[in-house]
Amino acid sequence: MKATVTSQCMGDRNCNKLCPEVFEYDEDELLSKVKFDVIPEKYEALVRQAAEECDANAIEIEE
Ligand code: SF4
Repeated sequence: MKATVTSQCMGDRNCNKLCPEVFEYDEDELLSKVKFDVIPEKYEALVRQAAEECDANAIEIEE
């Protein structure tokens, strides 16, 4: 699974709180970034949850 954060991110940091192992916040660009090219399997469920909870629909998942 791959995940990306688009420019629609509004910076509420929900994904960062939910799964800081995967999502980090870029203070310069004011949006979240994904730390992995391929998401480790143990974080996949949390990444899916983050995408569902993201009010900006800014987390795109590619299976
Ligand atoms: S939950 Fe969505 S809008 Fe909020 S910081 Fe993460 S990607 Fe951005």
